[in-house]
Amino acid sequence: MSDNINKYACSCWCGSEDTSIFYEGPWFYGERCKVDALLVKCLRCGTVRTAKVAPKITTVGELYSELSYRHIASIKTICRYARPGSLLDIGCNTGLMLKKLHDNSKLFNYFHGIDTDTNALATINDTYINKSDRMDKLGRKFDNILLLHVLEHVYDYGEFFKFLDSVSEKDAMIYIAVPNLTSLNARRNLSSWGALNPVDHRWHYTSSTIVKMIKTYLPSAKLLKMKTSWIWPHNKIPDSIQSLLHLGDQIDLVLRIA
Ligand SMILES: [Zn+2]
Repeated sequence: MSDNINKYACSCWCGSEDTSIFYEGPWFYGERCKVDALLVKCLRCGTVRTAKVAPKITTVGELYSELSYRHIASIKTICRYARPGSLLDIGCNTGLMLKKLHDNSKLFNYFHGIDTDTNALATINDTYINKSDRMDKLGRKFDNILLLHVLEHVYDYGEFFKFLDSVSEKDAMIYIAVPNLTSLNARRNLSSWGALNPVDHRWHYTSSTIVKMIKTYLPSAKLLKMKTSWIWPHNKIPDSIQSLLHLGDQIDLVLRIA
């Protein structure tokens, strides 16, 4: 490892500190955000993580209000695998997915959203949605849990998955979405691929590395479905081809907790 990497890198979720440089250069999102980023790849598990972003910007919240892709997931896929009962959306933002599932399905009888962004939570006026700005004291377990663009932000997986376990019913469905580092758009132009967002994302997953991480922290969970989907529909590649080749910007995983 070079001194440069030693200076900034923390351990990987797998415990290894051995890395190689994956990407070093600019990342920009429109006119609003331009930073120099250093991404490193773990030599043990292959997971890529942000090691350095400069300059540090403090307006990530503003950036996020523009990146409205955070809550996009297939209603059809969620409903196909969901259990009848309660629904928890961790990182619910303005509650868009909770509202969509409420309006499009009769499967769910209890709705709860968690987000650390209290401004986003304050915009939720629907009385059927229960809200929390912290990951504790929920006082109940859930039959279905959404983690849409959440896991790439989490620093301490030990603590996070302990919480997830404490709120998951037996046989609960967990729906996960994370950006796909091997997507067509990422491969074409990583430096302007919006879902890279090294300012806010600590981890950058591929289909292979997200499965390794999940198997480590949720060893008894069964993977029911994995696919990729577009965040920004932008081309004429049919969904079937995209999904087969895992070209989409987002990796979707459906798990069943044992
Ligand atoms: Zn690793």
